[in-house]
Amino acid sequence: MADEERSVLPTDKSISFGVKRIESMREMSFENPEGFWTGIAEELFWFEKKGRIFSKAEEPPYGSWFENWKTNLCYNAVDRWAHSPRRNKVAFFWEGEPGDRRVITYAELHSDVNRMASALSELGVRAGDRITLYMPMIPELIISMLATVRLGAIHSVVFGGFTSQSLSDRINDSGSKLLITADGGWRRGKIIELKKIADEALGNSSPVEKVIVVRRTGHGVTMDPHRDIWYHDTCSRQTKKTDIEAVPGPHPSYILYTSGTTGKPKGAVHSTGGYMLWSYYTFKSVFDISEEDVFWCTADIGWVTGHTYVVYGPLLNGATSLIYEGAPDFPEQDRWWSLVERYGVSILYTAPTAIRSFMKAGDSWPGKHDLSSLRLLGTVGEPINPEAWQWYYRTIGRGRCPVVDTWWQTETGGIMISAQPGNGETPLKPGSATVPLPGVDACVVDEKGVPVGAGEKGFLAIRRPWPGQFMTLWGDRERFESVYFSRFKGMYYAADYAMQDSDGYFWLLGRADEVLKIAGHRIGTIELEDTLIMHPAVAESAVIGRSDAIKGETAVAFVILKQGHAPTQELRKELSNHVRSHMGPIAVPSSLYFVDRLPKTRSGKIMRRVIRAVVEEKSIGDISTLEDSASVDEANRAYIELKEQIERAG
Ligand code: ATP
Ligand code: MG
Repeated sequence: MADEERSVLPTDKSISFGVKRIESMREMSFENPEGFWTGIAEELFWFEKKGRIFSKAEEPPYGSWFENWKTNLCYNAVDRWAHSPRRNKVAFFWEGEPGDRRVITYAELHSDVNRMASALSELGVRAGDRITLYMPMIPELIISMLATVRLGAIHSVVFGGFTSQSLSDRINDSGSKLLITADGGWRRGKIIELKKIADEALGNSSPVEKVIVVRRTGHGVTMDPHRDIWYHDTCSRQTKKTDIEAVPGPHPSYILYTSGTTGKPKGAVHSTGGYMLWSYYTFKSVFDISEEDVFWCTADIGWVTGHTYVVYGPLLNGATSLIYEGAPDFPEQDRWWSLVERYGVSILYTAPTAIRSFMKAGDSWPGKHDLSSLRLLGTVGEPINPEAWQWYYRTIGRGRCPVVDTWWQTETGGIMISAQPGNGETPLKPGSATVPLPGVDACVVDEKGVPVGAGEKGFLAIRRPWPGQFMTLWGDRERFESVYFSRFKGMYYAADYAMQDSDGYFWLLGRADEVLKIAGHRIGTIELEDTLIMHPAVAESAVIGRSDAIKGETAVAFVILKQGHAPTQELRKELSNHVRSHMGPIAVPSSLYFVDRLPKTRSGKIMRRVIRAVVEEKSIGDISTLEDSASVDEANRAYIELKEQIERAG
């Protein structure tokens, strides 16, 4: 993409002052990490503080945090506020899809969590036990997570849209002896039969001994009298206060399976002390939270974004958040904007895929609502193309709100690279995640792990341990070391392709294993996709490489058009010329298909491996990374659909 299109937004003196401040914090964090992190850790509560925060190790991940410090995540997220002047502050505004509403203060959350913890402990749950949660976006999900970590047990939240096979794989892999679910959840006006799916998942052999069921939809479900317990029955009879388990820093708080964009899901295991510090610190740094804010992270709690920025980050900071149960376009395309207006949301954190779909639906929907309460916008999950960035900035933020584009992963526990108003104003460049947070030693390296110069493309790596890092993959130490730590000696390999410009800003260019290699040039998928989306007719695009006898590889592009544009031969030619003039002739796609839909994961990310299978005329079963059988089903459906679309298009 041409540089002039990615210009810095207007800045002023105070803004450059902010960058200097971030730089000096970063230097401090590298020169005296122990002092830097202790300062932040002191803002949280610890039962015991013995010795150093960081212990270096020879084995990946090359260190651990708070080994001899003891704390409790739930205590810090809830109890601390319930015994403070914040006790009557709203922790959550919750709205169900049918329009039912609840308001929960910190004091109320405290008593709900206590009762649930007491119910779990009555069922024999002890520190280190695993509990799987398969629930809709309702307060009881958060209450269950907090109750679990209160006892030192480990939660594994499985996204409520997954099939029984995915659920059962994750239950078995984690060895959970308890499952918490609901009768159902609402999605686009229909009931998702969670209990029924859970029953299928448990089948005949499962480590699960008891199932707690929340009554959400109230429709009829079958309860096994020996195994199933109603949440409300057991919680309402609890009167005892539960003891809070003081756990050491490295005690696992949860297992979370990554979204599986690239294959078999990996169970990332997060710590307690380091993860807690990271959720607290990154939330505060990036969202610059104040007492008056109403924060809304739209992610499902089934993804890491939901763990860190719906649950732990906001609660550890004593913030007020909004949670919404259902679909963004139900009953109409303006549901989200009506929620922003009703609750006076001041910070909105969402994904580029959502922004692009709202953009496609048109400006009239947000135009119907008063969005003046917004002061900060954020994105996560994929690179945001400058077109969508500008739309978000102008149409939703009305040109008043900075957009923080946050790069991070399930494995990193929280945000790593982002503008960070809480640390100092950062000048923005649409499409760049900007700069690393203090404490994050990010770099771009070549094939051999040697840092490349400004403006050169390479692989994103993190050179030193950070508190939020995951500790291992559940039950698969070998995969943990080989996937993340064997590529470059002594570094964490993020598997993303990136570039750092001369201002030190990071540009994420796509997945490292999807980089196109055309006639000796490496092009990140995002570079080409962004260029296509810049054309006024294009709403969305996906690009993959196809092997070519002469050039090594050529680009194949898939394009979804905006409403009002027809898929003609002229437009195809125009798009080729558009790519040629912005990126040069080598980037021009050898084939370009107009489609209505692209195959996406449940978290909304494009499954390029499915597209590649279609293009290479391989059967989907030939893609060796597709090991998770539920994704196989979905991938198969997406495969057939894409194939039909191509055939229709000729
Ligand atoms: P899997 O690892 O199972 O394939 P996944 O990588 O999609 O799944 P996540 O951990 O949810 O699972 O996603 C992290 C990835 O998302 C990053 O590695 C990066 O590719 C992409 N990503 C997240 N945020 C951004 C961002 N702001 N800019 C660019 N890319 C991003
Ligand atoms: Mg990943």
